[in-house]
Order: sequence, then C-alpha cells, then structure tokens
Amino acid sequence: MSSILIPATTRGGFAERDRLLYYLDFEMLYIHIPYCHHKCTYCGFYSVAGSRDREAYVEAVCRELSMRRTTKPLRTVYFGGGTPSLLSLQQLERIVDAIRAYFDTSKLEEVTIEANPENLTAPYLEGLARMHFFDRLSIGIQSFSDNELRMLNRVHTAKQAMEAVHNAAVAGFDNISVDLIMGLPGQTERGWQANLDTLASLSDVAAVKHLSCYELTVEEGSLLERQLAMGRLKMPDETVVEREYGLLYAWCETNGFEQYEVSNFCRPGFRSRHNSRYWNRTPYIGIGASAHSFDGTIRRWNIADAVRYTSGAATGDIPFESEVLSERDAYNEYVMTALRTVEGIEKKMVPEPWRERLVLAAKPYIANGLLTEDEERYKPTRSGLLHADGIAAAMFVL
Ligand code: SF4
Repeated sequence: MSSILIPATTRGGFAERDRLLYYLDFEMLYIHIPYCHHKCTYCGFYSVAGSRDREAYVEAVCRELSMRRTTKPLRTVYFGGGTPSLLSLQQLERIVDAIRAYFDTSKLEEVTIEANPENLTAPYLEGLARMHFFDRLSIGIQSFSDNELRMLNRVHTAKQAMEAVHNAAVAGFDNISVDLIMGLPGQTERGWQANLDTLASLSDVAAVKHLSCYELTVEEGSLLERQLAMGRLKMPDETVVEREYGLLYAWCETNGFEQYEVSNFCRPGFRSRHNSRYWNRTPYIGIGASAHSFDGTIRRWNIADAVRYTSGAATGDIPFESEVLSERDAYNEYVMTALRTVEGIEKKMVPEPWRERLVLAAKPYIANGLLTEDEERYKPTRSGLLHADGIAAAMFVL
C-alpha cells in the first residue's frame, strides 16, 4: 500500500489539500476523544491518561469541526475513544453545539457515544439525554466478573456495569450496545457463560439492542503482551475459544440476537448504522487526534498526539498523514471488510479484470461450506465468518 506523508507546511498541491480538508463528500462523522482514566492491560489504541488539557482539546475539536464543515446532510455521528464519557456534560455539549452549527443534522439516523460504566451515573445520563442528540449508547462493559475486570485493569466493577445499563435505561436510552471480551486468560467456558447469563438477567436487558463480542487479541506494546511474556498470564486454548463462540451463538439465538458481523450481534433492526457504513466503504470524516477520514480513494489521519493536534488546530494547521489507495488496495480492503459481514462480497463491486480470479478463489470455500454464492453475492457462512481473514487473504489481488 502506498503511503505519502503530507506535512502540515509542505503538502503537495493546493487542490489536494482543499479536497482533503474541506470538500470531502461524506455523511458520517466520527469524533475521537483520546482520554482514558488509565491504560487497560490489553489496549493498543492511542489514548491519553489523565485529565490535563481536556478543555483545550475540546476547543481544538470545535475548531476542526468549523474547518471541515460541509453541506451534505449527516446520517450518522459516532463519539469514540479513548473514553468520551470522561468529558464533562458541558464539554460534550460544546462539541454537539459545534456539530449543529457547522453541519446539516436534519437527516441524522443514529448518534452513538461510547461510554465506560464508571461514568454512567444517573445525573450524567440525564444530562446526556437532555442534549437530545445521542440516541445510542455503547457501554464498554467487557466483563461482568470482578476478577476478569481486575485482570484487564478496568476501572469499573461488575456492580457498576449492571447499574450503568439500568441508569441508561431509566434515563431513556433504549438503544444500548454492550461490549464484552471473550477468550480471556484463565477464562473457562463456565466463566464466559456466566457473563452471558448476567447480561440476560439484567432487569433492563430489553434496552440492550446490540452486543459486540471481541476475542481478546494481544496488541504489540500492551501490558498484556508483557504479562504473557513473563508467564504471569496464559492465553486460553483455541478449543476453549471455539466453544465460547458456540456458547455465544446459542445465547444469541435464545435471546433474539442475529449476527451481522464477525464480532457484532443485534436484535432485528438494530445493526450499527455507522459501522455498517464503514464496512460498505461509505466516505467518512474523522475529527480529533488520530482520527481517520476516507473519501473512497484517499485516507487521511490526524497526528496521534493530542498536544500537537491541539496546538495545530489553534493555528488552523493540523498535522496529518495520508495515503492514496490504488484500485488494487481499495479492492483488497473491500474484500477484507465485506467478508467479515454476513452480506459478504457484492459481485458488482468487483472490478471486471478481477472477477474471474474471484470465481476461482471462492470455489474451494463454497465446496467446504465456508461461503455461499447467489446471483449477487458471495456470503460467508457462520463458520466462514470465523475464517474471514484467511478467506480474504486467498482472494486478494497481489
Ligand atoms: S478504556 Fe478503551 S481506549 Fe481506554 S485504555 Fe481502556 S481499552 Fe484503551
């Protein structure tokens, strides 16, 4: 993949700069809030511990919003992190006001904010609801076991996780997504089942419309990686994880959740519209340190440094890097993301010269039951979803 660095002061071509900064044709907006209380053991994301400079960062986000306004109506907005719920209600409201001031929000279909349970007190949630902006809450619960939460170095307790869902439902949030992590060191199938059972037993489970279950991965440079290297923790056997997936699928069937992506499940009609658009390669714009934007061909990302981002925004010159995707890169990315969803690969999205190649590459996977084919698409089966990355690699154009 080609990658070009366009430093703030020497970017090539005014026309390109204009397109990247101002004229991106998009309907999805992502706001990145990089702050976290502290680092979780498994975390490989860009995040900043501590509360310093949050005010200036919020100012910088509002400033970038003013620089990247567009007239195309927004369909989805997503506040992610980091931990967006570490911002005060006033700080969030300033960002919301800026979005309303600089963008057309009349056609919004979904506005999500990620939040951690320890922040979701009743007054905080009431304040969020009063903004009449967020209609979907994604709660980073990860586990309902205090032992597992301690091992992951999460801030909250199991009790706080349960209270967060209750408080959110009482405040009127009826489209809640819960994040859980499976395949934890030391986790048994019984332990995983207990997590699922706790979720099902919540008095406000009806408000939980979406479940994201990620298998724990070892990120480079994470504390988890060091703990494993020192032998303090041990990842579970692959067979345990496979059985945990089986328990998850059974839970989803019993509780009326459908799988629509490798790690994402929902009640009918409650797929994440924002993430589904990512997977369809809809153009999006990302605001904030390390946030990515994409117009179908060019991907650009702000520098992953909140201090430099903030000072850049103050002078109207936020450092960013970008890459221009070749047709082959764009195709390979499409195959990779499409095969992770139940919708699979749409044949008409495949450029003519590579269609024959795709037909040949798909054959063995259709034969062994990992893919199905109809007039329009190649779709992964449930087992196919578990092998999506491998199937995609076999279909790449090199
Ligand atoms: S809350 Fe999320 S982003 Fe922050 S350290 Fe933990 S895993 Fe990373």
